Amino acid sequence: MLVIGGGIVGLSTAYAITRAAPGTRVTVLEKEPGPARHQTGRNSGVVHSGIYYRPGSLKARYAVRGAAEMIKFCTEYGIAHAVTGKLIVATGREELPRLHALVQRGRENGIPVRELGAAQIAEYEPEVRGLAAIHVGTTAVCDFVAVARRLAEASGAEIRYGAQVVRIDRRPERGVAVRTARGDVVRGRVLVNCAGLHCDEVARLTGDEPEVRIVPFRGEYYELARPELVRGLVHPVPDPAFPFLGVHLTRGIDREVHIGPNAVPALAREGYGWGVVRPRDLAGTAAWPGTWRMGRRHWRYGVGELRRSVSKRAFAQAVRRLLPEVTEQDLVRATPGVRAQAVLRDGTLVDDFLIREGARAVHVLNAPSPAATASLPIGRDVARRALTVLGSA
Ligand SMILES: Cc1cc2nc3c(=O)[nH]c(=O)nc-3n(C[C@H](O)[C@H](O)[C@H](O)COP(=O)(O)OP(=O)(O)OC[C@H]3O[C@@H](n4cnc5c(N)ncnc54)[C@H](O)[C@@H]3O)c2cc1C
Repeated sequence: MLVIGGGIVGLSTAYAITRAAPGTRVTVLEKEPGPARHQTGRNSGVVHSGIYYRPGSLKARYAVRGAAEMIKFCTEYGIAHAVTGKLIVATGREELPRLHALVQRGRENGIPVRELGAAQIAEYEPEVRGLAAIHVGTTAVCDFVAVARRLAEASGAEIRYGAQVVRIDRRPERGVAVRTARGDVVRGRVLVNCAGLHCDEVARLTGDEPEVRIVPFRGEYYELARPELVRGLVHPVPDPAFPFLGVHLTRGIDREVHIGPNAVPALAREGYGWGVVRPRDLAGTAAWPGTWRMGRRHWRYGVGELRRSVSKRAFAQAVRRLLPEVTEQDLVRATPGVRAQAVLRDGTLVDDFLIREGARAVHVLNAPSPAATASLPIGRDVARRALTVLGSA
């Protein structure tokens, strides 16, 4: 079995395959010199409770289950984690109905929440201001890079680093052969595509048309120079269409408080700054009709996000809605990440996790947040599909 991608999803899949079918030979091909160098190593480190997601969706089911499993996994293997809980705070009247709707959604997803009035917010976060809030007790933070490393070791798979897959040859009678940029050829009976920001390109290398394209969105962070202002996690009431947007305050396992991520278009799939531009990636994004349709639909959001990306003052102003004490001087630029967001031809952002089978192949085509939280159940799901494909190959 060949797995492309040594992020948390690929490694969790390798781990699940060797657990479900001991003796199966698994090779993971990762283009970087080590695991978790992209989304898995550049995120907020939050083990999400699952409160935001549509009941019954893969996101809701796998996040709720995955959060509990992730904490157990970290405990068992001695990986840094902390169950800090999270406050979701309404700062405007118009947010109150959405806050109440979240309480309901939490209950439907089996997540206990506590409703708080303005005065009770200080019990958890003395410096945070709002009209009302909810406290979610199960939200945690953990070291996803350490989790990925541990999954790699525990899987017993052969992990080849520095192995960028550039060609895939799939024959019904002979299996799959992949060629790496260095010229090595690696063979397997089934290919599992967990290539994150490049998953649509890898799918097309197999000859399968994924019907989505990855549009990369950079998420930028600041670090709070006075981390004592925040005890745990403080999030605004999300817009149901874009739960990942808005100023999030997260005290990580490093004890620092990270503020972000925002979402601005990245000019390369691995475009970690405005200066990283890759014409080939840009041309691919521009050639997909869904990109323009998405742009026409959501440009208003984009303008606000861009303003906060280029103006620290605008960002600080947004933070002050939750944390009035913050000044521009308190904000220090931190390491950004890039999200792999799948977009359909009609411009719809794929909301749920998306996993598709082809002949001798399984493709993970949309695994955005909370896929790190949900990586253990996602890995089992992908492994089950890969073993079924293997059985029928
Ligand atoms: C800014 C940001 C904040 C986030 N915050 C959270 C959070 O708090 N909690 C949470 O649960 N989730 C969060 N997420 C989402 C989470 O990080 C991702 O869902 C998860 O890491 C996806 O893992 P992955 O293995 O699919 O992708 P990746 O970690 O990107 O791994 C894909 C791997 O494939 C490799 N690859 C690509 N192409 C090839 C090729 N051709 N050959 C060989 N290797 C290849 C890449 O090098 C990479 O290592 C966040 C994401 C971002 C960007």
